Amino acid sequence: MSELTHSSSILIIGGGTWGSGAALQLARRGFKNVTVLDAHPIPSPISAGNDVNKIMEEGSPSPEDDDESYVWNRMFQIATDAWRNDSTYRPFYHPTGFIMAGSNPETAKEVEAYVKSCKSPIRRLSTAADFQQTMPEGILTGSFPNWTGFIREEGAGWVFARGALEAAYHEASRLGVRFVTGDPQGKVERLLYSSSNVLGAATADGLEHKADRTILCAGANSDRIFDFERQLRPTAWTLAHIQMTEEERRTWKNLPVMFNIERGFFIEPSEADGELKFVDEHPGYCNFVKDPKTGEERSIPFAKQQIPLEAEQRARRFLHETVPQIADRPFSFARICWDADTPDRQFLIDRHPKYSNLVVAVGGSGMGFMMMPAVSVQIADALEGTMEARLKKGFRWRPETAVARDWHDTQNRFGADGEVMALQKVHRWTQVDRHGKL
Ligand SMILES: Cc1cc2nc3c(=O)[nH]c(=O)nc-3n(C[C@H](O)[C@H](O)[C@H](O)COP(=O)(O)OP(=O)(O)OC[C@H]3O[C@@H](n4cnc5c(N)ncnc54)[C@H](O)[C@@H]3O)c2cc1C
Repeated sequence: MSELTHSSSILIIGGGTWGSGAALQLARRGFKNVTVLDAHPIPSPISAGNDVNKIMEEGSPSPEDDDESYVWNRMFQIATDAWRNDSTYRPFYHPTGFIMAGSNPETAKEVEAYVKSCKSPIRRLSTAADFQQTMPEGILTGSFPNWTGFIREEGAGWVFARGALEAAYHEASRLGVRFVTGDPQGKVERLLYSSSNVLGAATADGLEHKADRTILCAGANSDRIFDFERQLRPTAWTLAHIQMTEEERRTWKNLPVMFNIERGFFIEPSEADGELKFVDEHPGYCNFVKDPKTGEERSIPFAKQQIPLEAEQRARRFLHETVPQIADRPFSFARICWDADTPDRQFLIDRHPKYSNLVVAVGGSGMGFMMMPAVSVQIADALEGTMEARLKKGFRWRPETAVARDWHDTQNRFGADGEVMALQKVHRWTQVDRHGKL
């Protein structure tokens, strides 16, 4: 492995949430020869982060943390600092509060566990009126059947995800990072190898991009470029939008995030176009395909700007329970959105044990957007070999945790029928007219 200097060539595969953040972090640290390859123009339509909003929670470590809690709390601390103070990220954070709820004894227990670990003050919500009063009158008109939960008024809210992703991309470009995007010139087909190391990547136009170090962060598609030894399970979730009226756009502002861990969540309408985004909660959809060589099942992501009709029904049920006055309106947008789950839902950010030129940064596991600035720091630390010991242990390459991996494990997620669902069994999809470019 060659010595790493600020002139070393660094190739980032994937300019999505983590790749754009990492590019910015490396440019700020003085690296002068950074190239990002992405199969799509940024923000990529298949990036999980190309979305109007994502939930953000603040946090900080404390002396009594065990290793696992320390890793999360330290990451929350780094992310919080960036979302509050970093000029690139700050404009996109809206600390409007966070409501969390469950509707049955099992999910109520999960909610209780969150309350115990939460360092910010919370207020309990146990009746429909309690929930309704968390937003201006006339918004939450639902009956909240069997809902119990809490509101955390400080230290949580949402971030304008696409805005932050684009800001990181523009700032990284301004600082000299080169972005090669689109198909075929930015689409990575394979890694390049010597007998003992990774030498870069080849794109679909036949070009070979050689580099001193390669960082693989292609989200749910990373698994198709490199063998992660079952540590990644590409899993899709389902989101949709409803167009709000001018009047609603004026009044539905600065609202706390509304999240029921078995029903779904919504966040206030986007400032740019007045669309309300919501997500129905479930353990996820996989696209299981048998590998003809090994006979093994793998989940293979694909892009689609529609969601299963069953997901639409679940989303509408959630809206009926909370905001029934808009629950039957047509959808203005829908898509499946892929992330990759590790077996323990902890990120995987490490230098590969065999290929020392390769850093992997994958496994967003449903929490990867709010951590974008903190993950970017860890990617740069992994590259420079300076990651804090407890984080290094948490984010390590760990195929031993995936040996007998059950691809159908719900991984402590709730909703729908409580099972990971197969996209092959979905025969009816929404027919939403508006499509972005895929
Ligand atoms: C529905 C949904 C809701 C979520 N809500 C939240 C939330 O509220 N809060 C939160 O913190 N997190 C949330 N997440 C998780 C978060 O969005 C992800 O963990 C995070 O965005 C993952 O970032 P990434 O960089 O790994 O992947 P991505 O952002 O998906 O980026 C991957 C990039 O790789 C590129 N790429 C793919 N294949 C290739 C190739 N062959 N060659 C070159 N480039 C390639 C893609 O074009 C893309 O730009 C949610 C996820 C989903 C699916």
